[in-house]
Amino acid sequence: MTSDAVGISPGRVNLIGEHTDYNDGFVLPIALDKVARVTASPGEGDLVTITSEQLGETVTLDTLEPGERAWWGYVAGVLWALRQAGHDVGGVELTLTSDVPLGGGLSSSAALECATALALDLYAELDLTPEELAQAAQTAENGFLGIPTGPMDQRASLWCETDHALLLDCRTLTTTQVPFALPDDLVLALVDTRSPHVLADGHYARRREACEAAAAALGVPALRDVTVAELDDALARLSDPEQVRRVRHVVTENARVLDAISALGDADWPAFGALLTASHASMRDDYEITVPTVDLAVEVALASGALGSRMTGGGFGGTVIALLPADRLEAFTAALQAAYAERGFDAPGVTTTRAAAGGIELSLRD
Ligand code: ADP
Ligand code: MG
Repeated sequence: MTSDAVGISPGRVNLIGEHTDYNDGFVLPIALDKVARVTASPGEGDLVTITSEQLGETVTLDTLEPGERAWWGYVAGVLWALRQAGHDVGGVELTLTSDVPLGGGLSSSAALECATALALDLYAELDLTPEELAQAAQTAENGFLGIPTGPMDQRASLWCETDHALLLDCRTLTTTQVPFALPDDLVLALVDTRSPHVLADGHYARRREACEAAAAALGVPALRDVTVAELDDALARLSDPEQVRRVRHVVTENARVLDAISALGDADWPAFGALLTASHASMRDDYEITVPTVDLAVEVALASGALGSRMTGGGFGGTVIALLPADRLEAFTAALQAAYAERGFDAPGVTTTRAAAGGIELSLRD
């Protein structure tokens, strides 16, 4: 009899709070109804075998060495992180499949890492805490692959609940479940702008550095410590106009996350939508991380009657969200396709989502 352990964990979409994570600020993601699924079963000796059904590829590893950025690193990196934390799982065969679009800003990477962590937790009976699971998944990305991402993606994938958004305080890593159940006459549309965020690496590092330099110049541990009331004074003390724009985005964006939570508490969807749109303008004008495909999607959404719309994710492409009256979805999709065609952009993809459940472990026996 073999016993297979399965981990299932979703992609996520961040409703609001962009580039606030590494400034010790706030983010507000929901889990998607699209998941990665990893099955762990006994391996041959100490060998680690990883198969991706999407890619049709298998790798076999006899050692785990950090540094190489390959697709299997998101899986092997979790094993490595667990070893670093004192849990040697030994040889194992890991098979993965996922319906989270790769590289679209919906965190197929965290879905994969978290599904792996959950599968291994069950497979090796590690009984990890939620925070240990999140850390193993995040360490895979930061430590094994060397990608300096923040704490949101893995915690969203693991901890989100159905019909809730997850407020994460990136300084304390404390979370609050915020009810997020759309009324029947509204939909949350996800637009795949078909522009993968390939050039984002250097831009991301530069913005992070600008924020750190500005915080140092202002004498605060992180930009989280500057309030909107203090913003004008803080900006007057910065001499670099680029830092001024970056700080203005981060400080106002943190405030928008908290305002968004108030709006949700009041079920004030127009106010919530307006905050999404303001976030987009701030990313476009101050953080300078949007591109023509995403700006066009937001414009068309608003012209089609959206209550609000914004790019989500690190920037330079990826996904746009739009909060739309349900009866405008069809017209929006048609208008967007026409606008993209007119500009010669690749045809966009439009789907809708709701706030779905976070990761789970599942035991399969045969
Ligand atoms: P995002 O997380 O926004 O989807 P990333 O660039 O962070 O984009 O992660 C995408 C990478 O994760 C892919 O390029 C691939 O290396 C890996 N990945 C995600 N899902 C799979 C999968 N099903 N099979 C193989 N690799 C995957
Ligand atoms: Mg990712």
